[in-house]
Amino acid sequence: MADQLWETSPHLALRAGPDFDLAALDRSSTPGFTGRKSDGKARVDERGDLLNELQERLFADGRYGGNRSVLLILQGLDTAGKGGIVRHVIGMVDPQGVALASFGVPTEEELANHYLWRIRKKLPGPGKIGVFDRSHYEDVLVTRVDGLVEEDVWRARYDEINAFEKEIVDSGTTIIKVALMHSKEEQAGRLLERIERPDKRWKLSTSDLETRKKWDDYQAAYEDVFRLTSTDHAPWYVVPGDKKWYARVAVTELVTQALIDISPQWPKPRWKPEVQRRKLLATVDPELVDDLVEAVQEQLEDAKAEHGDFLAEKARVAALRQRDNGHRAPAADEQPNDGSAAPTDDEAEPVSSEKKSKKKKKRKKEKKRAQSKKSKKRKK
Ligand code: AMP
Ligand code: MG
Repeated sequence: MADQLWETSPHLALRAGPDFDLAALDRSSTPGFTGRKSDGKARVDERGDLLNELQERLFADGRYGGNRSVLLILQGLDTAGKGGIVRHVIGMVDPQGVALASFGVPTEEELANHYLWRIRKKLPGPGKIGVFDRSHYEDVLVTRVDGLVEEDVWRARYDEINAFEKEIVDSGTTIIKVALMHSKEEQAGRLLERIERPDKRWKLSTSDLETRKKWDDYQAAYEDVFRLTSTDHAPWYVVPGDKKWYARVAVTELVTQALIDISPQWPKPRWKPEVQRRKLLATVDPELVDDLVEAVQEQLEDAKAEHGDFLAEKARVAALRQRDNGHRAPAADEQPNDGSAAPTDDEAEPVSSEKKSKKKKKRKKEKKRAQSKKSKKRKK
């Protein structure tokens, strides 16, 4: 099944490999995406419900002993749009399920420890979506560009980082590494905005202009990061950053697809519904029991319909992922697609967005009608 807007999944369109050529990247391009800005924005909004349910399932699974989690690593120079991704993409899900960590200039205590020490402490626990605003990659970027350690020290770190990330992935975390790469001209515009606009001035650090002078050194350092640390267990997605809306829709898709690959299921309770129901209803005024049961039945119908929507949306995203899996040779250590893209308990006929919203409206109408019928009955 084709996705109307993603001609090629961002997993495929944005993935960096060992011979990645950063100079050739068109920073204002929109790889894989055929739509315009308005389509991109609409798609991000549309993904909200799906992302939310997937995140809640992951969270619930974590509460019931599951070990899965997601770690989104965001890298990019000043004004690349890392904050916007956190606000517009991660901001769509329940903040209780998100663990956000920002990594700035290391404190004295952090400097006294191994550079991965502060990173380990912030890894997401089971059921969480962790987000790193900058990360251990600064230790082969700013550290290298500013000569904060000897070359042999930072050179040794690429392998160390790969091994570190392998360990994290093996413990149940899906790592999504996103580098937002905007152009030097675009950065000038965004920095100037921070200088001119009173409501943006707080974001500018005077060191940003010093960092900008080292633009070319940073590009070289980033290119090495992409070439040396884009592994099968934790690949890099290099996102052209000049169009903020594109970066947001691309990251939304990467995160959604990662959650669908995990395919978290609602945990099975350790108690029996019939027993708990009997116990509860024994405490309710017998005259109210029928109304109560009826009201909950209605909620159940709603939930079932919503579940249908969820499954249809999920199937649509999974189909795109599946299609692209077919395009690339699976890596040696990559888990075979275990059919999670088409889970048996979750089978559903895909429904178009338009149909979906019509269905939703219909459900709302029916519910309203039932409610007014009921209140009339009560008045009688
Ligand atoms: P910002 O993300 O704009 O708040 O800035 C954080 C600053 O901390 C950036 O200038 C980074 O280069 C710097 N930073 C982050 N990690 C390190 C590190 N390991 N060593 C030195 N500077 C760092
Ligand atoms: Mg900054």
